[in-house]
Amino acid sequence: MTEGFIRFIAGAVCPSCKAQDKIAITPDDKTIYCISCDYKEHRPDEDSLGNLKSDKPKIFKIDDYRPKK
Ligand SMILES: [Zn+2]
Repeated sequence: MTEGFIRFIAGAVCPSCKAQDKIAITPDDKTIYCISCDYKEHRPDEDSLGNLKSDKPKIFKIDDYRPKK
């Protein structure tokens, strides 16, 4: 098996060059890109797509969880 295989999104049309079936998605599902041009776009994860309760990512201050000296 070859590593770095390309997963395409069936039927997707590139908004940049209008090519169909040229949109691929990175193995980590974070980014979609076009193999026909330089189009690239961050893809929101399914969690935020299916759950729009919060429109902002929650940011935790890691320092708060450290044991106090
Ligand atoms: Zn394209």
